[in-house]
Amino acid sequence: MASAPIVTLISTYEQAAAAAQALTRYSTLILDCEGQDFNRPGGVLSIISVGTYPPSEIVYLFDVLALQDKENPLLAPLFCLLSDPGVGKLVWDGRGDFLELWLTYGVVVEGILDMQLAEVIRRPAYMKSHTLNYFSKSKAVMRDLESNPHLLDGIQRLVGLDHCAGILRVLDECGGEDPAVTTLHETDGGSMWLNRPLPPMLRDYAARDIQLISRVSDVILPRVDMEQLREASARYMRVYPTRELKEAHVPLELSKFAPLDVIDAPPPGTPAYPCARCGRMLSLSCFATREPTAVAEGAEREPDASVQDQGPSAGHRWRWTMCRLCVLIAVRKSEAQMESWGWSLVP
Ligand SMILES: [Zn+2]
Repeated sequence: MASAPIVTLISTYEQAAAAAQALTRYSTLILDCEGQDFNRPGGVLSIISVGTYPPSEIVYLFDVLALQDKENPLLAPLFCLLSDPGVGKLVWDGRGDFLELWLTYGVVVEGILDMQLAEVIRRPAYMKSHTLNYFSKSKAVMRDLESNPHLLDGIQRLVGLDHCAGILRVLDECGGEDPAVTTLHETDGGSMWLNRPLPPMLRDYAARDIQLISRVSDVILPRVDMEQLREASARYMRVYPTRELKEAHVPLELSKFAPLDVIDAPPPGTPAYPCARCGRMLSLSCFATREPTAVAEGAEREPDASVQDQGPSAGHRWRWTMCRLCVLIAVRKSEAQMESWGWSLVP
């Protein structure tokens, strides 16, 4: 069993500078953030947890509420560390942390290695059914997949940190999640993270997340191509540039899946097309497509006037107006807006 790390709360600018200086000895860190209404409009960043790796001997909890002056020069060493692409940052679903650090401090975190994405990239065979299990309850989706199995190409359902740690059998080393904190998160959106002094149970909760990321990384990291993970993670961080967009995607259930065009990026210069449901600009491989004749024979037609005017033309393909991921989720949820779908001519 791994020994517990030394956890230090950092609540003065002088301490922040000293802690950042101590962390410069490490080429890889573990990063995690906590806060109220994280990634929702009005969200507040409370704690930046930074652990050393390997192993997670030291955990610093930077108290953002006590370190609000982003112009204070004593925060510069910490910002330098976060924005240094040469220092790897192991995270678990770092999208929210990346966004909140940008909105709070104007810092773009570089060198991120997202272990949630790494799990997807090197997913073991026994986890392959995880994605299909989400859709298999819907007969309509299964019918669609039967007629076109390629709809599922590249679509991967994510797992949570505790779930992954359980699968990898490293959960016991870190102890169970504190049910009191989990309940508070669910009932009040995490306002407890604004309490000072920081309650001991929250300090333990933050430190445990760092421990969990560390243990999970021990297992997954040796299996992945670091350069591929680094590039995919950078794309993953940029999927949600605003809290509003992140919140809008929650009811669409998109946050349960690895975003398309993130693990494997289209080559530079590849044309991108908008999805009518998620609004993301995606490469053609993310859409169901048909040859012009196939559409001409079918009854479905894009209601958009410009498309109807042109009609199917030789040499052009048609694409479904929603990305494959959105189509499958919307069919599973029997969304009302499904009626407005159609085909769109690819220029
Ligand atoms: Zn979409």
